[in-house]
Amino acid sequence: MTEALPDFRLHRPESLEELAALWRAEPQARVFGGGTDIIPNLRRGLVDAPALIELGALPGFADLTLLPDGGLRLGAGLRLADLASETELAGGWRALAEAARAVAGPAHRNAATLGGNLCQDTRCLYYNQSDWWRAANGYCLKYRGDTCHVAPQGSRCRAAFCSDLAPALIALGAEAELAGPGGTRQIALLALYRDDGAAHLALGPGELLVAVHLPAFAGVSGYEKMRVRRGVDFPLAGVGAALAPVAGGWALRVAVSGTDSLPVAITGLPSPLALPLAAAVIEQIDKAVQKQVTPMRSTMVSSHYRRLAAAALARRLVQRLAREAAAA
Ligand SMILES: Cc1cc2nc3c(=O)[nH]c(=O)nc-3n(C[C@H](O)[C@H](O)[C@H](O)COP(=O)(O)OP(=O)(O)OC[C@H]3O[C@@H](n4cnc5c(N)ncnc54)[C@H](O)[C@@H]3O)c2cc1C
Repeated sequence: MTEALPDFRLHRPESLEELAALWRAEPQARVFGGGTDIIPNLRRGLVDAPALIELGALPGFADLTLLPDGGLRLGAGLRLADLASETELAGGWRALAEAARAVAGPAHRNAATLGGNLCQDTRCLYYNQSDWWRAANGYCLKYRGDTCHVAPQGSRCRAAFCSDLAPALIALGAEAELAGPGGTRQIALLALYRDDGAAHLALGPGELLVAVHLPAFAGVSGYEKMRVRRGVDFPLAGVGAALAPVAGGWALRVAVSGTDSLPVAITGLPSPLALPLAAAVIEQIDKAVQKQVTPMRSTMVSSHYRRLAAAALARRLVQRLAREAAAA
């Protein structure tokens, strides 16, 4: 039974150069922010890491900067508790603060970071178990085994990506700033993810997330989450949405977490939208979400329930945002 924390070397680099040298020397080392995801996984024998690299001493890693073009640069080391109460996130970018408030409990949010939330491991009822439980099931496709027990007929791991922050940020048009041996690059946040529960991050070797960029935003946004335990729980489904004024009406962006191996950016939404929203438009949004998410069953609920939950959350959220936009 692997429940005690295994031995590992701990590093705390003070520059990206020092970090790169550490990673070159120990390619199997894993980086971490608050450790609220990786430490339980180490304890459960889900991570093999001879060394951990704590990112908190990197200069500017937890800075929040208002950009000259009206956008925002959020350092990957920002704590979720800070995002939840940040005044810059009280207006149009509110989806991010709402999502941060929805993560786990207060103690978690005091330690957990933006980068760790966006790079957290995927989850599955056959994976997030003790070693003896997984061994008794012959392990699974994500780790040490050769079968995905939730979808045995498929050839890939269906573990779900459960970040609350990712759908809020994707709805807000966020970009990820990455740094690695090849230098720095900026990509759409959505492009950080791959549809494979066993390898869901498109980070190269030695590459890490250093910041998230939010473009200036003149609309309204929000986040809604469904979970079994209201106090501390991962999303059965989590929906971020943003309504922005455009020529002839409003543009809507919706993204969903908790249902698939990557955050799902819903496509084919009606645009531009007129306010108040017609019932047929709400129905279209509901159907688009139902069609595009592919949740697996959890210990508590069926996959169909989760599909309906995601669609219901999207309806509820878009109606709330439409009311706010109309009143503004
Ligand atoms: C009981 C419990 C409840 C939870 N509830 C929720 C929830 O409701 N919603 C939710 O979204 N999450 C939840 N989590 C998961 C996790 O705690 C949070 O996602 C948290 O935000 C992770 O942040 P962290 O800084 O602690 O991550 P860490 O544990 O430090 O890192 C997580 C992963 O990301 C990688 N990583 C960290 N920073 C970077 C970076 N800058 N660049 C590249 N890779 C990086 C690490 O290598 C690791 O694999 C929960 C966890 C537990 C144990």
